[in-house]
Amino acid sequence: MRNIHPIRTYFYDNSFKTRTICNLCEASYPIDTNLTNLKNHFYKHHKTEYDLAINKHEKNKKEIQNTNLLSKIPNATNIIITKYILDNTDYEIEETEEIESGN
Ligand SMILES: [Zn+2]
Repeated sequence: MRNIHPIRTYFYDNSFKTRTICNLCEASYPIDTNLTNLKNHFYKHHKTEYDLAINKHEKNKKEIQNTNLLSKIPNATNIIITKYILDNTDYEIEETEEIESGN
C-alpha cells in the first residue's frame, strides 16, 4: 500500500497526464516533478496549507509505524490489534503478548 504525501493531494493531473496542477493557484509542473519541488511550491506560495500538510504527514508516519509493528505479529492477532488501534489512539505492546500466549 503506497502512502500518498498530503502535499500530493493538493495537485491534480491534466487530462493528458502530462502535467500536475496546483489546486490553489493553477501552477502546473511536469507530471514527474518530484515531491520536493511540489513541497517547495507550497512552502513559498501556500504556507498555511504547507504547515497543515506537513503536520498531517507526521501523523500518517506514526500510523505507518504502528502498522509496521503489526506485520511482526501473527495474522489472527493483527485483526484484534488493528481494531484496538482504531478504537484507541495509542496502545500497549503488552496487550499483544498476552493474546499470543493464548494460542
Ligand atoms: Zn499553488
